[in-house]
Amino acid sequence: MSSTQGEVLVVGGGVIGTTSAFRLARAGWRVTLFDPAPGSGATWAAAGMIAPSAEVSPGEEDNFKLHRGALAAWRDVASDILDQTGATLDLFETGTLLVGYDASDRRLVDQFELVAKSFGVQPQHVTRVSHEALFESVSPRVHEGLLFNEDAWLDPDQAIELLTSANASLGVSVVRQQVLTATTSGDHVEVTTADATFRGDVGILATGARPLPHGVAEKVANTVRPVRGMTVRVQGVDRSALPTLRAYVRGRSFYMVSRPGGYCVLGASSDEQEELIVEVGELQRLLRDALDVVPSLESAAIVETRQGLRPASKDLAPFIETVDERWAWLSGHYRHGVTLAPLAAQEAQSFAQGLR
Ligand SMILES: Cc1cc2nc3c(=O)[nH]c(=O)nc-3n(C[C@H](O)[C@H](O)[C@H](O)COP(=O)(O)OP(=O)(O)OC[C@H]3O[C@@H](n4cnc5c(N)ncnc54)[C@H](O)[C@@H]3O)c2cc1C
Repeated sequence: MSSTQGEVLVVGGGVIGTTSAFRLARAGWRVTLFDPAPGSGATWAAAGMIAPSAEVSPGEEDNFKLHRGALAAWRDVASDILDQTGATLDLFETGTLLVGYDASDRRLVDQFELVAKSFGVQPQHVTRVSHEALFESVSPRVHEGLLFNEDAWLDPDQAIELLTSANASLGVSVVRQQVLTATTSGDHVEVTTADATFRGDVGILATGARPLPHGVAEKVANTVRPVRGMTVRVQGVDRSALPTLRAYVRGRSFYMVSRPGGYCVLGASSDEQEELIVEVGELQRLLRDALDVVPSLESAAIVETRQGLRPASKDLAPFIETVDERWAWLSGHYRHGVTLAPLAAQEAQSFAQGLR
C-alpha cells in the first residue's frame, strides 16, 4: 500500500463503484463513496456468475477475452479482502453444465459450442451415462450437455458486504445521498448532494444504468440503456457441489446458481424496460422454464424476486470514458458487471493515477 495520493470521489456504490473504491483506497487514495442505497442496483439482482465460457455470444469475442481474466482478478480481490479484514470472500469454482431441453434447444447448444470453440474454449461433452452425478435434479428428458470448467460464481451480497467493511477499515467515507451535480472546477472535482458540496482531486462515475448527474452528463459521448432483469430466489434444491446449471428451454436461456444449503438463484428475465416491477408473464415464463429443467423445484419455497437494470452500451461492451481530465465514467457492463468489477476497478485506479 502506498501513502496518500489525493482524494477520489466515487459516485455510485454498486459492485463497480464499491470495488473501485476498495482498490483506490488500498492504493493510498482517500475515497468518498456516494450512494443513497449502496448495493441496491443491478448488483442486488445479480446471480453472481463469473462465467466467461458459458456466456459467449457471436460477435462478442473481445468481451470474452476480457472475461477470461476476471476470475483471476477476483481471486486477487479476495486475497486483498482477507488481508484487509481477515474475512473470506467465497469463490465457487464449480464450472457450468449447459443443456438443451428439447431437440431445437439441443441444436442451440450445438451452435453455442461452435461459437465457444471459435473463441478457443474447449467444452467437454458429458452424458447421463458418462457423468451421472452432474445431472442430479435435472429433468430425465435431458441426457447430455457441455461442461465448461473455467466458470465460477460468488454471492454479490457477500461481496458487497465484505468490500464495504474492508472500505470502512481503510477509512472510505460513505455519503448516503444522491449526487445531483458532478463538475470540474480548476484543479479539483466537485459534487453536490441535496445537503452539501464535496471536493476531490479525481472523480469516478459508476452509476450503472442510471442517468449521470448534471455537469458530467452533458459532456459524455457514450450512452447506456437500462435492460431490466429479474432473478427468483428459492429454497429447496442443493446442487452447490455441482456445476452451475444453464439451459436453453424452448429457445430461452435459463440458469440456476445453487448455493450451499439449498438456496438457488433462478434467472434471468431480460426486457427493454426500466420500471422495476415483477410482471406476471415474466415470472410465469421463468418458473415454467425452471420447472421443466429442474422438476424437483416443484416443492421449493419462493424466497423473493429481485429486479435490476443492466447497463447496456450501444455495442454491449463495457467502457471507461474519460469525461475530462478529472472525471471518468465506468459503465456498460450489461450482463457481466459482477464478473468484470475487479477489472473495472483496475481501470479506475489507472485513470486516477493519470495512466490512461
Ligand atoms: C437479473 C440480473 C442478473 C445478473 N446476473 C449477473 C451475473 O450472474 N454475473 C454478472 O457478472 N453480472 C450479472 N448481472 C449484471 C450486473 O448485475 C451488472 O452489470 C452490475 O451490477 C452493474 O454494476 P454497477 O455498479 O455498474 O451498477 P449498479 O449495481 O446498478 O449500481 C449503481 C449504483 O449507483 C447508484 N447511483 C445511481 N445514480 C446515482 C447518483 N446520482 N448518486 C449516487 N448514487 C447513484 C445506485 O443507487 C446504485 O447503487 C446481472 C444483472 C441482472 C439485472
